Amino acid sequence: MNKLSFEDLKGKVCVITGGAGVLGTTMVQALASAGMKVAIADINRETAVRVADEIALECNATVIGIEANVLDKESLIRAKAEINEKLGSIDILINGAGGNSPQATTKVEQMEEKDIDHPEDTFYGLQMEGFDKVYSLNFKGTLLPTMVFTTDMLKKKKGVVLNISSMNSFRPLTKIPAYSAAKASVNNFTEWLAVHLAKVGIRVNAIAPGFFITNQNRFLVLDEKTGGYSARGQKIVNSTPMGKFGEPEDLQGATLFLLSDLSSFITGIVIPVDGGYSAYGGV
Ligand code: NAD
Repeated sequence: MNKLSFEDLKGKVCVITGGAGVLGTTMVQALASAGMKVAIADINRETAVRVADEIALECNATVIGIEANVLDKESLIRAKAEINEKLGSIDILINGAGGNSPQATTKVEQMEEKDIDHPEDTFYGLQMEGFDKVYSLNFKGTLLPTMVFTTDMLKKKKGVVLNISSMNSFRPLTKIPAYSAAKASVNNFTEWLAVHLAKVGIRVNAIAPGFFITNQNRFLVLDEKTGGYSARGQKIVNSTPMGKFGEPEDLQGATLFLLSDLSSFITGIVIPVDGGYSAYGGV
């Protein structure tokens, strides 16, 4: 019988894309604390190396920062070679790179009659360039790293992929159609790939974080002038039964659980970590 602990994770090699970001950093802390060897693969090399060095010191663990663009297969192949050379063959992948952008965000939540003659603040004013960027980063940026970083797992007939979805994947939030569509695709892809790889020993799951204040949504949920919640930020808190934004550390338990053998019969699921948001009908 398995020991009921995260012991099996010790010494495993884990790659986390976007690992230098706010949520990524706390996940890396959890991985390092569990004794894993971690490669932070991030488009921002400098931050990746800085975060890796800090966590390596703090947790007395092996953590490296390397440059990789999740939208560029050649860059991912180069990153994999560097990880293989420095840490060994890869056991686990976390697809953490993702996010929204103001360029793919409508200014108004719902279109009103007054907008019909001036629709630039609505769906009709969205720039395709911004839409494509956000959709690709979240969807293709999950698919491509999976294609490159799981090949070592195939050889071992054992491995885990963890995708990072969002509350938007279940029901879209207003204003951010590209991000919502992309995260819904991430859920669908999580299920598809879980089925596709089930017989070769690779499990594929996702977590769907609720609301955490980070760089990508700060402009939407905080009021620049007062520093308090914006109307949208307040709405989120009101819609979260626990009555607050999450702390990034709240993701650590679900992450380690889905990576470890404790979840060895679980594949193709998306776990919400959301303070009850997805369970609440608002009344
Ligand atoms: P963040 O912006 O703090 O971090 C994202 C990281 O991804 C950054 O370090 C950035 O350099 C990196 N990155 C961006 N483009 C990249 C590329 N092309 N290749 C490689 N790396 C790239 O974001 P975060 O809030 O920590 O979000 C992490 C994940 O969690 C994302 O997938 C996001 O969509 C998801 N998420 C966040 C929240 C939230 O409330 N913040 C909620 C639900 C889901």
